[in-house]
Amino acid sequence: TSFGFKDVADGDKQPLVNDVFHKVAKRYDMMNDLMSAGLHRAWKDAMISALNPPPDPEYRILDVAGGTGDIAFRIVEASRKMAKATVLDINGSMLSVGEDRAKKKGLAENCTFVEANAEELPFEDKTFDAYTIAFGIRNVPHIDKALSEAYRVLKRGGRLLVLEFSEVEAPILDKVYDLWSFNAIPAIGKVVAGDGEPYRYLVESIRKFPNQGDFAKMIERAGFSRVKYTNYSSGIAALHSGWKL
Ligand code: SAM
Repeated sequence: TSFGFKDVADGDKQPLVNDVFHKVAKRYDMMNDLMSAGLHRAWKDAMISALNPPPDPEYRILDVAGGTGDIAFRIVEASRKMAKATVLDINGSMLSVGEDRAKKKGLAENCTFVEANAEELPFEDKTFDAYTIAFGIRNVPHIDKALSEAYRVLKRGGRLLVLEFSEVEAPILDKVYDLWSFNAIPAIGKVVAGDGEPYRYLVESIRKFPNQGDFAKMIERAGFSRVKYTNYSSGIAALHSGWKL
């Protein structure tokens, strides 16, 4: 299959994004390890430490673009299995892998899975204590809509955390990273998932995504306060944080 991602305007990319994740859902977790050389685990753990979820059964988090549940499971575990997590994703294939994993991990009681679009959340205003999204927001066609929805569904005092690939700030590492992402990642995709083209798209979507400072401004524009970011691995990934005050 040829995707022809380059010819697609951002507003129309959702069906192509969906196709990528339907295809890879079953192998997604393994692909993640291979393509980030295992680093995504450390970044996700750092995100959960930043959130520091309390052991409180009333604490409700929404993990958007939650895919196979990685972030939600870590949060529930960090809250000593007290927090209630809603895993939301536009892709039913990713969610069903997530539901199976939740059962196997004994976390099914704490997790709800919802198929929906980050741009139109099916929740009332002021529902959640935290909104998390990891490696998902760059796939959403209208990032501003996703951020204003995040703001809407958070309670006052609620926290937004966004983990995403970002701009590498170390001069030699950025060259190594370019070689890795434009060559190794599509090659791994071809071997493991049978098609390198979707991964070329994923790499390009990282390049197009705003850098740390610009993304922080977008979060502020959505209404969030005390916006800041922390780079991981010299900016290969960054965690942005904001509060609805
Ligand atoms: N958060 C998980 C993790 O870190 O392992 C999964 C990240 S995966 C790279 C990106 C996910 O974003 C996919 O599961 C995809 O279906 C989802 N996604 C893409 N567009 C979306 C949208 N508009 N609304 C909700 N989820 C979306």
